[in-house]
Amino acid sequence: MHKLAALDRRYVWHPFTQMRDWAKREPIVLVRGKGAVLEDVVGKKYLDGNASIWTNLHGHNHLQINRAIQKQLGRVAHTSALGLANEPASLLAEKLVKGAGRPLKKVFFSDDGSTALEVALKMAYEFTRRTGRLRAPRFLSLDGAYHGDTIGATSLGHIDLFHKSYSNLLFKSDKVASPACYRCPFNRAKPQRRDARLYAKCNHECATQLEQKLERRKYAALVVEPRVQGAAGMVMHPPGWLKRVAAAARASGALLIADEVMTGFGRTGEIFAGRKEKVTPDFLCLAKGLTGGYLPMAATLTTQPVFDAFLGEYEEFKTFFHGHSYTGNQLGAAAALASWELLTDPKARARRRVLEKTFGKELETLWDLAAVGDVRREGLVAGVELVADWKTRKAFPLKAQAGIRVCEAMARHGVLTRPIGNVVPLLPPYCISDAQLRRMVKALRESVVEVLGSARI
Ligand code: PMP
Repeated sequence: MHKLAALDRRYVWHPFTQMRDWAKREPIVLVRGKGAVLEDVVGKKYLDGNASIWTNLHGHNHLQINRAIQKQLGRVAHTSALGLANEPASLLAEKLVKGAGRPLKKVFFSDDGSTALEVALKMAYEFTRRTGRLRAPRFLSLDGAYHGDTIGATSLGHIDLFHKSYSNLLFKSDKVASPACYRCPFNRAKPQRRDARLYAKCNHECATQLEQKLERRKYAALVVEPRVQGAAGMVMHPPGWLKRVAAAARASGALLIADEVMTGFGRTGEIFAGRKEKVTPDFLCLAKGLTGGYLPMAATLTTQPVFDAFLGEYEEFKTFFHGHSYTGNQLGAAAALASWELLTDPKARARRRVLEKTFGKELETLWDLAAVGDVRREGLVAGVELVADWKTRKAFPLKAQAGIRVCEAMARHGVLTRPIGNVVPLLPPYCISDAQLRRMVKALRESVVEVLGSARI
């Protein structure tokens, strides 16, 4: 075993990882990256198939982002945002507000996706109380929701596997069915193999149910991941759902918190996924891709009325008493500015459109595998759901570790990604070439055949 792997095994406790299983295998120790390719300590190369857990946008070791960080490093790495302003954070806030559009006017910086959500939920809670709308506001979120691991963000989540053990530590939030069409709780999805036919008899019961909950008018906010629920298994919402529930939230007086931690920055085809349905939230939570996937930094954007509710005389203590040591970090903001420039370059946008088409075409090739139940894609994010029986949509038992084993085989084929249960996510960095993209999907196909003996149908 390589000495770095041995050190890891001896000292490091990995996130979301059964460490007993971890100790059975030699870990991949990554030492460098360039573009969409990562290299390990023994020189094996891999495609970064999930953009390093959905963070990387333009590839690793990008000259422009490196330069921006280095330039900032030559000035100062970090100064506190408590009582002090700084150059890159001010410039970045302007870009984000202008990019997000009305009515978002103010940016509160923090460190990661979870903290971006904590900020939104505290602000929404206090705004709702201060404006006298509700005395004990509650939050509404979707089945399968994942908004982070801090206690507040966990309280908004509804994935039992992650959240149940801590239920006594959490505040109660309400849950409604998510428009997870492949596993439709109202059983509207027919067991056919192509998206278009899935919704044949759909009356949008899930949206109606959500509207009915909102009508109780007890919510500070509806919290959603617009268009794609990442950790739920890359669950893609049908077109129109977001617009409808956003309107229902508004009508009930609830605020809309958009968690675009995963969907933001072009991942779904628009700069922000809400744009696809012309939905602008009251809170826009950003992290992961904000710095292009280089440094941990997050932002919560909100409106003038929310900001104004925290204004007052010093001794009224209306201040938003919240913040972190690294809020507005200068290196992160410098990386984010460089990433924003790359992202919004019209040539890069055009390239993403082409990539989306190629990606869609390549993914189509997976439908004929019996162990593939669903192939979902929105922009440059895809989820391939592995099933024991595609006709009944019967899932593999978790114990079979189908997703884990397929992803391990993919690593042997030179592609890194991490399963969510039996769903294999693919989120290529935007710098990927057509040939690399084809190789990525081919590795998934070969791994499914190898591990699950998937026959052609
Ligand atoms: N929201 C969403 C939609 C996410 O996908 C994640 C992370 N996977 C988070 C919040 C939490 O982000 P972080 O891990 O950076 O705290």
